Amino acid sequence: MNLVEEAIKINNKKVDYFDKNNDYLKVGIMGGTFNPIHIGHLSMAEHIKYNFNLDKIIFIPTGNPPHKKLYNIENRHRYEMVLISIMDNKDFLAFDFELKNDKYSYTVDTLSYLKGRYKNIEFYFIVGADTVLELETWKDFKKNFYLSKFIVSERPGIKNDFYEYKLKELKEKYNADIFKANPPLLDISSTRIRENINLGKSIKYSVLKDIENYIIKNNLYREVL
Ligand code: NAP
Repeated sequence: MNLVEEAIKINNKKVDYFDKNNDYLKVGIMGGTFNPIHIGHLSMAEHIKYNFNLDKIIFIPTGNPPHKKLYNIENRHRYEMVLISIMDNKDFLAFDFELKNDKYSYTVDTLSYLKGRYKNIEFYFIVGADTVLELETWKDFKKNFYLSKFIVSERPGIKNDFYEYKLKELKEKYNADIFKANPPLLDISSTRIRENINLGKSIKYSVLKDIENYIIKNNLYREVL
């Protein structure tokens, strides 16, 4: 069995177990393009899991992000890299339903689906601080606050007066449960990783070793995008 097959098998087992044992769990959701998934995503998820006493974190790679065009990479590659990256963590699992959807993936649809399927779970949708300023532009955004709590992963650059004002406004105006998290700051981004690969620079230590190998083996991110 190769690494991808093993990662798929392990995730299937985790999802099976999750389906059968999910009463009254606190579960974080990491949505994102994960193009590719890197150490920053993983350490953020781990930090938030422990600091908010979450039982599990579900990684949900976006299929067709509503607000931007897709990158020139097959969805299965992004998903397989997520599966490989989380395979040795029993509390991290991944769902691929957004990837399988032909239509745009709106968070309100994803959360409605999850709440319908897992009625007793308390969900915590994890977003970056920049996203706070955009949350009101999301489809049916008020419903998102009813379906899930939100955890905002802060970073120094974004903490300005407008951000603080927006956070307070979302809480007061929409009764949103929004919490702040301060994971260790790792200056790693998927965009920079893609650029470095394209320029022939090293991405060592920004992604797991297996992901570096996966990118090389599948010749990903070689074209200028
Ligand atoms: P993205 O482009 O992958 O991420 C945006 C920024 O946040 C990037 O700087 C990214 O860093 C960082 N990031 C990625 N995953 C993160 C996470 N889980 N927590 C904190 N920061 C993270 O993702 P996106 O397209 O903005 O989408 C993020 C989530 O919001 C998805 O689940 C998406 O479906 C949802 N969303 C919904 C709507 C809507 O319903 N209308 C609109 C926008 C977004 P890297 O580049 O290094 O990954």
